[in-house]
Amino acid sequence: MISKIIDSRKISQVEDLLDKHDKIVIVTHVSPDGDAIGSSLGLYHYLNDLGNEVTVIVPNVFPDFLRWIKGAKDILVYEKYPEYAQKLIEEAQLIFCLDFNIPKRTNNVGPLIEAAKAKKIMVDHHPEPSDFCDVTISYPQISSTSELIFRLICRMGDFEAMSKECAEAIYTGMMTDTGAFTYNSNNAEIYYIIGELLKKGIDKDQIYSNVYHNYSEDRYRMLGYTLSEKMKIYPEYNAALIWLTKEEQAKYHAKKGDTEGFANLPLNISKIIFSVFLREDNEMIKISLRSQGDFPTNKFSAQCFNGGGHLNASGGEFYGTLEDAIAIFEKTLPEYKDLLIK
Ligand code: 5GP
Ligand code: MN
Repeated sequence: MISKIIDSRKISQVEDLLDKHDKIVIVTHVSPDGDAIGSSLGLYHYLNDLGNEVTVIVPNVFPDFLRWIKGAKDILVYEKYPEYAQKLIEEAQLIFCLDFNIPKRTNNVGPLIEAAKAKKIMVDHHPEPSDFCDVTISYPQISSTSELIFRLICRMGDFEAMSKECAEAIYTGMMTDTGAFTYNSNNAEIYYIIGELLKKGIDKDQIYSNVYHNYSEDRYRMLGYTLSEKMKIYPEYNAALIWLTKEEQAKYHAKKGDTEGFANLPLNISKIIFSVFLREDNEMIKISLRSQGDFPTNKFSAQCFNGGGHLNASGGEFYGTLEDAIAIFEKTLPEYKDLLIK
């Protein structure tokens, strides 16, 4: 048995809303990662199997390494079909908001969610959720939204009804949000849940391979280039910075998601506990921050890059040049010296 993390009243509220409504939209955050897609497709399969009319809407495209998940080809990308997506959101009776805590994290979809007449249910694990949903299931101590979806389905008494496809999607999200169970993954119940998912027939080794063993040659060479030529180490702060210009990404024909995981890599270096990756995008610099131990990347991100996220993994955006972003990073590092050097 796993402990009852989710408040029983919230479970009843979700059950009640699902009894009354069957036109459902699931929305997740911009630049969807494995947990965003995994939790959305896990819930999608569960609700679909119950006979609901369900659509998953993502603000923009998601990486190729998640396309093998069953149901991924049915995901509606708002940027590609904004009018159709808007219509579905307007007509939905119920909207699930997964893996984000504020509407802004869904970019242009945010105002549509806020204006929608549908009842809204958040399932998320980011700190400080804003109050825009009718039911807020937010547990930052849980390492992935996908795990919360598993817990929600079980608490509604439907573990037996869970399909292998649902289990595969959930496992993918749990795996990717913990770096394949290498961080944020000391809760013993995670492994109990994995056991339950294995009973559904998932092939966890194959899922690992689908997600992590699928680099294109270009992507792998870009990774080598980044570590070899574009990494600066700050030994006096146990910190590292990597960055890529638009031109460098173009040289390696980088696609959406091709730099996923790069931010973590400097943490492989002995003593480095804080790593920041700056990626020049069309209108801004996208920032990914990662740490080990209790260094608060989300605080650093909020202070410097208008961002947020989890303690050990956060992100932000910077509107300016790469040089300016690097300068801000370097100027701010000394303020965190006590947390970086212990
Ligand atoms: P990533 O670096 O993989 O894009 O994001 C890591 C974590 O930070 C995720 O949990 C994500 O939700 C959060 N995050 C990424 N970008 C932003 C951002 O611009 N603003 C906020 N508030 N959180 C972000
Ligand atoms: Mn997540």
